[in-house]
Amino acid sequence: MFGRVPKKSDNTKFYEVLGVPKSASQDELKKAYKKAAIKNHPDKGGDPEKFKELAHAYEVLSDPEKREIYDQYGEDALKEGMGGGGSSHNPFDIFESFFGGGAFGGGGSSRGRRQKRGEDVVHALKVSLEELYNGTTKKLSLSRNAVCSKCKGKGSKSGASSRCYGCQGTGMKITTRQIGLGMIQQMQHVCPECRGSGEMISDRDRCPQCKGNKVTQEKKVLEVHIEKGMRDGQKITFEGQADEAPDTITGDIVFVLEQKKHPKFDRRFGDDLYVDHNLSLTEALCGFQFALTHLDGRQLLIKSNPGEVVKPGQYKAINDEGMPHHQRPFMKGKLVIQFHVIFPESGVFSPEQCRKIENVLPMRPSKHLTDMELDDCEETTLHDVSAEEVKRRKEQRQHRHREAYDEDDDDDESAPRVQCAQQ
Ligand SMILES: [Zn+2]
Ligand SMILES: [Zn+2]
Repeated sequence: MFGRVPKKSDNTKFYEVLGVPKSASQDELKKAYKKAAIKNHPDKGGDPEKFKELAHAYEVLSDPEKREIYDQYGEDALKEGMGGGGSSHNPFDIFESFFGGGAFGGGGSSRGRRQKRGEDVVHALKVSLEELYNGTTKKLSLSRNAVCSKCKGKGSKSGASSRCYGCQGTGMKITTRQIGLGMIQQMQHVCPECRGSGEMISDRDRCPQCKGNKVTQEKKVLEVHIEKGMRDGQKITFEGQADEAPDTITGDIVFVLEQKKHPKFDRRFGDDLYVDHNLSLTEALCGFQFALTHLDGRQLLIKSNPGEVVKPGQYKAINDEGMPHHQRPFMKGKLVIQFHVIFPESGVFSPEQCRKIENVLPMRPSKHLTDMELDDCEETTLHDVSAEEVKRRKEQRQHRHREAYDEDDDDDESAPRVQCAQQ
């Protein structure tokens, strides 16, 4: 794109001005700029030249596109107007985009337009557990506002615009209304005439591409790299890729991963995978082996040790077969299997089979009731109670307890009442 060899010293100055390494993150840049800008603000007796330099360095490095150009080709490339990158903003505007107009306790540094930050756009991105296990790339097509390439965001052919008469160019309108004796309420709202831009473009001068809107719709394809081991709720950020607007620092597009529920595996406690497996009573007592298909399609052979008896609800784990650890995918969590034992239904064994089973199973508890003791007992009948019914009875009881508690509460001045009120 640029047919010349860049000067070597050309692309470090901005980093030196801010006092950050070339590898500095957006966050580090922000912090460094904030700190230095407060120290060197002219309102605080700082050097205006230094203040300007800081703003310019930050303006370039905080824009990923400009930063890349600067890193590769140096400052001169930016001056050549690549992508409108050469335009320099008022250093006070940049400062105020961080601190607002009243940075120093309302000290008069409100200078018209300030550079605001555009909003971040947040999307939920549904991913399967397989995708988080294996890693994948998703191509997503989004449409966004881009600063009009024809007018460079001015909205007019000539670049000229006149100050909006509705708001005198401030973009805001203040209305006052009397709300009581000697009391006036002031309300500030965006000027409807210019929609907050503070300027008007005559119909004839409107940019034909954006019709004076300054921005146009643009289709954009983003490649979202889902790395092995990423988690539900993890964010993937595309800095400065949200809707563009003139004189605005473009916000980020943020994808928040949302893991779809898996029919078999459940990720718990970081990188462990949990899976349920049903065993027949025979397998639980006499041993089992089965193949388990993993999230990458591998078949794992799972088998019991000789003579091993598995109890209902028992857990067993295999090391290094859980989820890969994000950023260290060669490290993996555990694969934990919880075994459930399926008992035979009532009535499947004949009395003779029962005797046979009893012969091999451990002896019954030795305590036998004597005839005398039996005579003292009352006859009873056992019937089935489902787990749902137990749960329902528990809830009913808790509900009744709460009602009773609330009644108590009305005429009781004791401590629990205070706790209640704080919730
Ligand atoms: Zn335009
Ligand atoms: Zn206006």
